[in-house]
This record gives sequence, structure tokens and C-alpha cells, in this order.
Amino acid sequence: MMDVVVIGAGPAGALAAGLLARAGLAVTMIDPRPEGFRIGEGLPPAARPLLHALGLLPLVRDALPGNGTLSAWGSDDLGVYDHIGEPYGHGWILDRARFDAGLRRWACEGGAVLRIARLVGAAHRGDEALELRLDDGTCVIAAFAIDASGRPAALANRLGATRTHVDALVATYARFRAGVPGEFDTRILVEAAAYGWWYTVRVPTGERVVALLRDHEPGACSARAEFVQLLVRTRFIAATLAAGDYLPIEAPRGADARTGRLSHVFGDRWIAVGDAAFSVDPLSSQGLADALLTADAGAKAIVAARGGDPRGLPAYAERVERLYERYLEHRLATYARERRWPDEPFWLRRL
Ligand SMILES: Cc1cc2nc3c(=O)[nH]c(=O)nc-3n(C[C@H](O)[C@H](O)[C@H](O)COP(=O)(O)OP(=O)(O)OC[C@H]3O[C@@H](n4cnc5c(N)ncnc54)[C@H](O)[C@@H]3O)c2cc1C
Repeated sequence: MMDVVVIGAGPAGALAAGLLARAGLAVTMIDPRPEGFRIGEGLPPAARPLLHALGLLPLVRDALPGNGTLSAWGSDDLGVYDHIGEPYGHGWILDRARFDAGLRRWACEGGAVLRIARLVGAAHRGDEALELRLDDGTCVIAAFAIDASGRPAALANRLGATRTHVDALVATYARFRAGVPGEFDTRILVEAAAYGWWYTVRVPTGERVVALLRDHEPGACSARAEFVQLLVRTRFIAATLAAGDYLPIEAPRGADARTGRLSHVFGDRWIAVGDAAFSVDPLSSQGLADALLTADAGAKAIVAARGGDPRGLPAYAERVERLYERYLEHRLATYARERRWPDEPFWLRRL
């Protein structure tokens, strides 16, 4: 029997697995597709103390310095938010595939094992264990499991937790490659529109990620079909792409970007960390830092629970609750700063 099985080997899963393996536990990560491009590249300066405390600053050595944000938000003009005045210095623009792989390597160096498979079923096995069914037809028995499967919350959902959302935000995004070299601006550019908002950022591979965030409207034209039409009508995003002669290198893809949370973040023999516990609006650039923070706190709570301390898991749930409440306040205040389209459904829903 495994001590801990971690469902999902993204940043939250890999960090929790590495910490628990280093605490002497037998840990396996399960993920069907850990490699490949991932959206979510901006790591804010506030993540520095955590990376430092965990000894993980080498993982951002190859990242670009994230020097701030340019935003047409609440105004037709571009505002500049510079990281120069930040107490922790600059943030980072990550190559997410590389960052995530680095964390998994760190977890495996600590003794965790990675298995390529998808969780398809979960149930309690008496009072002592969980039985986790995988898509390769095998079962894993574990004393404890961590749901780090991101927004699907694949384990928690199967063990009776439910997820609620406060919006219907979806991301449509594509990568673009520059036709002319020499563009080095690593600031994130944000531009609000009547129907939602856009961002673009240059990532360490030299490509630009361009994303449109709007609400899913049942029955409406697919956001992917409209992506290019709407993109050419943006002011600042289109101008940035034109200046670098950028061309798309893939068809637009979609991603869940809803703000939401689980009904409860721990239960009998399981705990949820990262986006599985709660997910935030990409506008906050906070998802990754929260994923690392909850994975660290979750791993400590499991060690405490195994040591017989009954307060570890409830204290973890309270911490998650506080993080989420603080984020919701921040979300409300940020959207309230954009008042140019007071009658548009997207903005009305965020008042
Ligand atoms: C458009 C967009 C832009 C974003 N931009 C930013 C940003 O700039 N900065 C930032 O900090 N955050 C950003 N985020 C959020 C950030 O990407 C997430 O918060 C972060 O990836 C969460 O990490 P995680 O490990 O919890 O989950 P994930 O990274 O989602 O990893 C979950 C893992 O679980 C695996 N999995 C899923 N189902 C199963 C299953 N059934 N069995 C086994 N494994 C499974 C998946 O394959 C995946 O590898 C953005 C998100 C979106 C949608």
C-alpha cells in the first residue's frame, strides 16, 4: 500500500509529492499527460519568498524577468504597472512546460514516483485506505490521496465533494511566432473590451501567447471561431502583434478559466490542493502562486495528520478559505475599475 497517491503532476501535485517524499513517505504521482504546453505563465514577485523557502528559485533561473503590466483597463489609454517598486523585485514569465517538468524532476529526485495514467474511479476501502482505479485497468491502494488534478477536481468529485463557480469565464488562446526578431518586452499586456478582455505576453520560447477571456454563453457562436475576427479589432494587442510581424502557429484552443471552489477541501483520507481546491481568474496572475502555497500547506497538514495532530487538516481548510475570500475581494475591486461598458453583460455580471 502506498502512503500517499497524488492525482495530477502539475505544479501543485509535483510540489506536494516532492515535499512528502522528502518527509520519508512512499509517494506516487498519477497523471495521463504531464508534458507539453501549458497556459499560465506569469509568476508575480510575491511568489519569491515561497520559492526561496522551498529552495526552488533555481527553477526560475531560465525564466524571463516579468517587469510588470501594461493595461488598457478602465481607460482608453495604456496604464503601466511596473515591478520596480515591488518589495520582492521582479516577477517571472515562465516556460510552463519547463517549469512544471523541473518541479516533477525535483519531486522524483526526492523519491516520488510518476505513473502515466488517468484516475477514473475512487472509493474508500474499509477504514484504512482508498482504492484508486486507473484507466490502464489497474488499481492503486493508498493510505491517503491528494487531489491535484486542477479544475476538474477528479478525485474530490468522486469522493462526494462538489464544485461551485461564481462565473462562466473561458479562455481562448493561441501561440504566435514573430516574423521579425528583436522584441524583448516581457510585460504582460492587458486590454479590456465590451465582451471580455485580452492579454498577451512574450514567453521564454520567443513565442507570444494571446488569450481572450469571456463568458461562456450557451448557444452563442464559439469563441474559437470568433477569436481572429475579434483580435484584429483590438487596439493594443493587434498593434503589438503587427509590430513584431507575429503569425499564429496553432489553431485557437479553449480552457476553463472560472473562479470556483470545492464544497470541502479535505475529507476522509484525502485533501485537495492547487486549482482542484479553488481556481482564480487569470486576471489575478495568482493561480500558480496559490497552487504552490496550498500544496506546501497541504503537505504539512498531511504530515501533521499522520503524526496524530487532529488540527492539521481543519487548519488547512481555514487557510484555503481565507486565501479564497481575499482573492474574491481583489477580483471585485479589479473588475470595478472598468466602467466603460456598464450595460454589457460581461461587466454587469462582475459588479
Ligand atoms: C488562460 C489562463 C491563464 C492563466 N495565467 C496565469 C498566470 O499568468 N499566472 C498564474 O499564476 N496562473 C495563471 N493561470 C492559472 C494556472 O495555470 C493554474 O492556477 C495552475 O496551473 C494550477 O496548477 P495545478 O497544479 O493546481 O493544476 P494544473 O496545472 O491544471 O495540473 C493538473 C494536472 O492534473 C492532471 N489531471 C487532470 N485530470 C486527471 C485525472 N483524472 N487523473 C490524473 N491526473 C489528472 C492534468 O493532466 C494536469 O497535469 C492561468 C489559467 C488560465 C486558464
